[in-house]
Amino acid sequence: MRRKIVAGNWKMNKTFSEAQELMNQLSTYQKKHTSGCEVYIAPPSLYLTAAMDIFTQHEVRVFSQEVSLHTEGAFTGEISVDMLSSIRATGTLIGHSERRQYHGETDANCNKKVKLALDKGLIPIYCNGETLEQRKSGQHFNVIKDQTEVALFSLTPDEIKKVVIAYEPVWAIGTGETASPEQAQEIHAYIRGLIAEKYGQEVADEVSILYGGSVKPDNAKEIFSKPDVDGGLIGGASLKIDDFTAIIKAFD
Ligand code: PEP
Repeated sequence: MRRKIVAGNWKMNKTFSEAQELMNQLSTYQKKHTSGCEVYIAPPSLYLTAAMDIFTQHEVRVFSQEVSLHTEGAFTGEISVDMLSSIRATGTLIGHSERRQYHGETDANCNKKVKLALDKGLIPIYCNGETLEQRKSGQHFNVIKDQTEVALFSLTPDEIKKVVIAYEPVWAIGTGETASPEQAQEIHAYIRGLIAEKYGQEVADEVSILYGGSVKPDNAKEIFSKPDVDGGLIGGASLKIDDFTAIIKAFD
């Protein structure tokens, strides 16, 4: 069974007291409602342990926004998979387009990070997606194919079932421009097809594929209603309790 998921990526936003307030609001909401999806947040790493202290009933699962390629040592500023599992975080984002754009993230590195995360029992949310130029020049299917193959196709069938994929067209992230539900479905079905070709349909049917890129309360339901869309990775709209809970409600 594919998990339905709404995940919030807070990026580099909020002071500590603002973050605590939003986490407490989200905890209260989740305890009062039976949501039709799992709810995850990826706050700034500085606030991960505070998040673990707030979401004690696992009403919201806590993810890191990034993880190191290295397991320990002289890597100033980095966070390891061991550190994440030692605070009982659920998982980590890997390969977000902002990490690719500003920090030179590559699919080969993502592959190593996905394996490191899985080895520690963490759920990797592997992000991929094409740029505007790549879409305009009709390369988007090839880009997605390369990204998916390099980052994920050395995994075993049991491993890939544990990965969550987030398709995030770069041109739709933080721009207010959203892929249409049909465009999202087209790529999600394509990714699932690639997994089916490599691992078989049964495995492909177990992989959750999220859409990310300007999901808002007014478009979430339609996007999530598409057969291969299992939820969303939400940036801007995860920073306001009313918007984020309205998106969660799209699964009610
Ligand atoms: C993201 O950063 O993963 C994202 C989807 O951002 P936004 O929702 O703001 O486009």
